[in-house]
Amino acid sequence: MADTDYDLVIIGAGPAGLTAGLYAARARLNVLLLEKAAPGGQILITDWIENYPGFPEGLSGYDLAEKMRVQAEKQGLKIETAEVHSLNLSSDIKEIVLKDRSIRTKSLIIASGASPKKLGIGEDKYMGKGISFCATCDAPFFKEKTVVAIGGGDTAVQEAIYLTKFAKKVYLVHRRDELRATKILQERALANDKIEFVWDSVVTGVDGFFGIEGVHVKNVKTNEEKTIKANGCFIWVGILPNTEFLKGSVKTDEFGFIIADTKMKTSVPGVYVAGDVRDTPLRQVSTAVGDGAIAAISAEHYIENF
Ligand code: NAP
Repeated sequence: MADTDYDLVIIGAGPAGLTAGLYAARARLNVLLLEKAAPGGQILITDWIENYPGFPEGLSGYDLAEKMRVQAEKQGLKIETAEVHSLNLSSDIKEIVLKDRSIRTKSLIIASGASPKKLGIGEDKYMGKGISFCATCDAPFFKEKTVVAIGGGDTAVQEAIYLTKFAKKVYLVHRRDELRATKILQERALANDKIEFVWDSVVTGVDGFFGIEGVHVKNVKTNEEKTIKANGCFIWVGILPNTEFLKGSVKTDEFGFIIADTKMKTSVPGVYVAGDVRDTPLRQVSTAVGDGAIAAISAEHYIENF
């Protein structure tokens, strides 16, 4: 068999990738984890995590990410900062194309996660000037100000509650009259005096000269339009898979999430998937780490027979 640089390469250092790396390092595989930004993935923009078992008081997303990184590196995982451009999966030896070089590996785990969906309401123009996807990063800029949060899922509701620690008022705009978020989060948001719900409504645009001054909202039942005076607009309307580098090389569902079996095997032998980028019924830190562990052990078995 021709030479390879690694037994296993993992793409993405969120909870799924770091767990896969931890298990692979302990299995004494020659493994490399590639991450284009800071290790941690989406939990880095999560202020507080209280449903990850083992931390009864909860902990910040940053702290959990750091603990996972330290634990994996302690077991021998090598993490490199690099962005994957494309993959060549047409032969047994897989090629991972980076900006300045290619890496050859026997197996691959894709744990590249997901990113917040945009709405097309001026995100590019107002990014950093009032529009944000990250309360942990930007909430302190809105101390005693009014902000709008968009969405009805776990992220929107949890982060809207976090925003109330800084903002004097948070309008939560949701396109239906019922939230999708977990009940405990709903209870907390509904009981929070600083949150005003704007039901059955969508945001159609924002305006302002130096930053945001108004957020345009339309009621989808009555077609009534109004402008909420606010300085910030936080968008949490779901996620898209981070799969630009795949270019059709692995089978995905209609939304681009990678399809796998219970062993995290994708449509390509030797290629596994873990975490939010997988077509999965539940996206939690706890399910991501489970995926990561299974993917690493599956890759280990594959490499044994390579
Ligand atoms: P999500 O669960 O997909 O919810 C997206 C929300 O945005 C939905 O309420 C949806 O409305 C709304 N929406 C979608 N497209 C829209 C549009 N074009 N205009 C207006 N509203 C729109 O996404 P998420 O909240 O980002 O969560 C992603 C995953 O991470 C989920 O699996 C979630 O459970 C998980 N997560 C968990 C926690 C936690 O456990 N504490 C925290 C954060 C995230 P509809 O309801 O009408 O579809």
